[in-house]
Amino acid sequence: MSGRTRQTLLPCFLLLAGCATAGGPPAGRDMSAADAGRKLEVLWTPIQQGPAIPASASWNRAVEAGTRTLTGTPGARAWRNTVSYQIEAEVDPETAILRGHEVITYRNASPGALTNIVLNLYQNIFSEGVPRNRFAPVTGGVQLRSITVNGAPVRYSTQGTLAFLLLPAPLASGNSAVLEIEWEHTIPPATAFRTAWEDALGARVFQVGQWYPQVAMFDDLHGWDATPYLGDGEFYSPFADFDVSITVPTGQLVGATGVLTNPDEVLTEEALTRLESVVNNNGITRIVTDADITAENTTQRPLSGSLTWRFTAEDVRDFAFATSAGYVWDATVTRVPDGVGGTRPVMVHSLYRTGARNWEHAAGFGRDALAFFSEALVPYPSGILTVAEGPISGMEYPAMVFINRPSEDDALYAVIAHETAHQWFPMMVGSDEASFAWLDEGFATYFENLSVGKRYGVRDPFALERASYLSVAGTEREVPLMRHTDLVSPYGDRYVAAYGKPSLLLQSLERVTGPELFHATLAEFLRNWTLRSPTPWDFFAAFETATGRDLGWLFGPWWFETGVLDLAITGVEGAESGRAVVTIGKLGENPAPATLRATTSSGTETAVEIGVERWFSGSREIEVVVEASSPIVRLELEVPLPDMTPQNGVWTADR
Ligand SMILES: [Zn+2]
Repeated sequence: MSGRTRQTLLPCFLLLAGCATAGGPPAGRDMSAADAGRKLEVLWTPIQQGPAIPASASWNRAVEAGTRTLTGTPGARAWRNTVSYQIEAEVDPETAILRGHEVITYRNASPGALTNIVLNLYQNIFSEGVPRNRFAPVTGGVQLRSITVNGAPVRYSTQGTLAFLLLPAPLASGNSAVLEIEWEHTIPPATAFRTAWEDALGARVFQVGQWYPQVAMFDDLHGWDATPYLGDGEFYSPFADFDVSITVPTGQLVGATGVLTNPDEVLTEEALTRLESVVNNNGITRIVTDADITAENTTQRPLSGSLTWRFTAEDVRDFAFATSAGYVWDATVTRVPDGVGGTRPVMVHSLYRTGARNWEHAAGFGRDALAFFSEALVPYPSGILTVAEGPISGMEYPAMVFINRPSEDDALYAVIAHETAHQWFPMMVGSDEASFAWLDEGFATYFENLSVGKRYGVRDPFALERASYLSVAGTEREVPLMRHTDLVSPYGDRYVAAYGKPSLLLQSLERVTGPELFHATLAEFLRNWTLRSPTPWDFFAAFETATGRDLGWLFGPWWFETGVLDLAITGVEGAESGRAVVTIGKLGENPAPATLRATTSSGTETAVEIGVERWFSGSREIEVVVEASSPIVRLELEVPLPDMTPQNGVWTADR
């Protein structure tokens, strides 16, 4: 395959913070909960005295409080605060100014009262002087015109991308507060990240994310997540319902997270008819064509000169949209299991400018990726997915992905597949993308690779990830997966920490558990944590529970440290007799199970399994006996993890 350039995948990103990687008492041993004891032995007291998973004090407290469990599921006392947004926004394509008004209903389901509310003002990353770790065009940030709580003005302070509202009275558990905010900001031009407009291919396109004041996450681990948005790190957002009206000039198409609820108010008769036919068509239906643009017939044309597009979405962690007067619109459909023995349709839309290379395939790519992941994971939860072309090279939002124009067709598929995989991680299970980028980027890369491998018959779809990992492994540029993303660059390799290495480790985990158990456990994890926010410790616990095995040797060093694996055949005695005593050296820090494969002079093969516990004594050399019926002429170590120098794991009689 040619042209799968990794650059096209880099743009979905990562962030940092004190978070759960901080130390804490050794592994929950002082936990007194009656239900804790048995599983603790499995999780935290390595049966075989091998490496262990470092503890998270906040996770241990959550287990004690009953919001999480030692088996990797939400606890009986799990809660989540709920949010609903009613937003009216207007975009002036000439000036790129977005004006908005929102009513946020925030319900406190946590056990305690809240004295303040934290808002994310992500657009402030484009303000002058605001701390950030990437280049950003300065367009002024957010102007807050007014903020009220329950109808009364409220005291607040802003700090970078955060606003802290002091509530006039504590918000008791079970009660709701209504915030009303008016704001304005200028959408940044291309070269901005995750949100931008650009003039290209004869038209101006807006891909708009992080555009409204958003309530920050309040969770059972740390309370308010008041982590600044610096650029590299992505998001940790509460699930919410949205009712969003977007007003733009006539002739502009709008695609967004959520379902368009007023198509008959904005679309032409022709477009409406074509849209209704999609569900019965096998191929791609052209809803709005180039000819429609030429004929100025892309939307209805009221005298007011503008149209308001209204979208609703439920239980999503964000809302994004794209708009252009130069967009054509394709649509197609796929069907996913409905959970009661039948199937339901999922509409897949693409919006792009004519001339955007290969984009006539984009709707089909989105459909195929979505169908693949629905089969490999659990069915896609939403009924819609929109793939929008523009300046952002690859970014995921709920039911909406922003993609640029990679030069090759298969690269376009790969990046659409990657961003579509994010619809499961983190759109379905809402992990903290900033603190634990691997938990969404690692999975997105892993499933992207499976999908690309199958579609294009790529024998080793992880070759790029392996090469990038091995190029920094063992050097100062490698940082642990469990480090907050904003603490990685510029000295560490963020691609390896968030994408490359974790995708390889998920492949390794699949080899260790076996593919069936791996995929069943993952599906169960997705079901258990839908609309919840799992941490890595929930993930580790889910896999130890499902396998009934201590996986500390894998999750400990590989996730929390940067040691490498290098198993080598360092000595062979008696091979010519058919009974070889093979010395295996552990040249790196990390232990691993291995399979030692032997080939005899008569061409027969035999294999010896070497358990990982052989390394737990601390010895750096072990002996393994291989017996065969004729002289052994070749030996090869096979390990389920990335090995620094595979060539030293091979021995041949004639060397
Ligand atoms: Zn990604």
